Amino acid sequence: MTPFVYQSAPARVVFGPGSLAQLPQEVERLGARRALVLSTPEQAAQAERVAALLGERSAGIFAGAVMHVPIEVAREARTVARERGADCAIAIGGGSTTGLGKAIALESALPIIAIPTTYAGSEMTPIYGLTEAGLKTTGRDARVLPRTVLYDPELTLSLPLDLTVTSGLNAIAHAAEALYAHDGNPITALMAEEGIRALADALPRLKKDAADLDARGDALYGAWLCGAVLGAVSMGLHHKLCHTLGGSFNLPHAEVHAIVLPHAVAYNAAAAPQAMRRIARALGGANAPARLHALARELGAPTALRTLGLRTADLDRAADLALEARYPNPRPLEREAIRTLLQRAFDGSAPS
Ligand code: NAD
Repeated sequence: MTPFVYQSAPARVVFGPGSLAQLPQEVERLGARRALVLSTPEQAAQAERVAALLGERSAGIFAGAVMHVPIEVAREARTVARERGADCAIAIGGGSTTGLGKAIALESALPIIAIPTTYAGSEMTPIYGLTEAGLKTTGRDARVLPRTVLYDPELTLSLPLDLTVTSGLNAIAHAAEALYAHDGNPITALMAEEGIRALADALPRLKKDAADLDARGDALYGAWLCGAVLGAVSMGLHHKLCHTLGGSFNLPHAEVHAIVLPHAVAYNAAAAPQAMRRIARALGGANAPARLHALARELGAPTALRTLGLRTADLDRAADLALEARYPNPRPLEREAIRTLLQRAFDGSAPS
């Protein structure tokens, strides 16, 4: 076997329907006395519920989280945490809310308890992002990794079906790229394949019945595994393209992932045959890119970047931006082939 390094993330995971009820014990376990609850404005009611559950251990709520963590919002939340004497932050929501918790922890080393309500996976990674003057920068810091993650599928029942689907495909993207990562290892490969399998099984069940709690649990379990590999190994072309499209053209995060994934996997297919076999096996098909594309269509996910507001004129710039920074990818980065990939993703064509 090829030698490898595997580093597990230190987070404690509490998983299961109704596990939100265990939050007070989890706060106590961290030795915290005043927990600030974070959410987006849309999830303020869930944040209020969490604060009520904490009783005297609540330092109130800050319901100002928004996508991509603008620095002004991070500063405001840091000030609120300081002024209220918070010794812990609880992030209930998707990647945007977890990201705000990370921005607080980056400055103060405040422990975070994450309660994920999407499948984005940020709760499992030491990766943070901050946006200043329209530019999003990301970094890695062990301080931002949540100490405890509480996965309660009941809290995902309210996730609208379209976001359920695109967020699930976003999670699958982490695992697909983990399977061909240059620093991957047998343990991350196990988690990645199982994560894809769990989500590919759960998402069609959720399309039929978004209130299927068992399927919600399976999807969240898959998302956990996909998030764990996102934090453990390097991502390639797919994540770079999505980061560029999301950041530079202000396109929605999960939708972009859902559209680009089959094309980025097709780009790498010949250079990563073993990963392709594992992705296909997890999806229950023979051809990884074709099966990913079919899954997205079956689930009713968007399949064309033009529907998100991108313009044909943006494609050249997107290709240039994706080539600017060098990053590991199984197939070398070739300008023309990447431009073709973007065109197909723009038009909604099948991956080639
Ligand atoms: P999000 O957190 O922006 O959530 C999208 C919307 O859905 C928000 O309005 C939110 O309040 C709402 N929502 C979330 N869960 C809900 C629920 N259960 N019921 C009802 N509404 C709900 O979306 P996201 O895709 O989870 O996160 C995207 C952000 O996370 C991006 O900024 C991305 O860059 C970041 N991210 C970071 C990492 C990392 O490792 N640092 C990983 C993945 C994503």
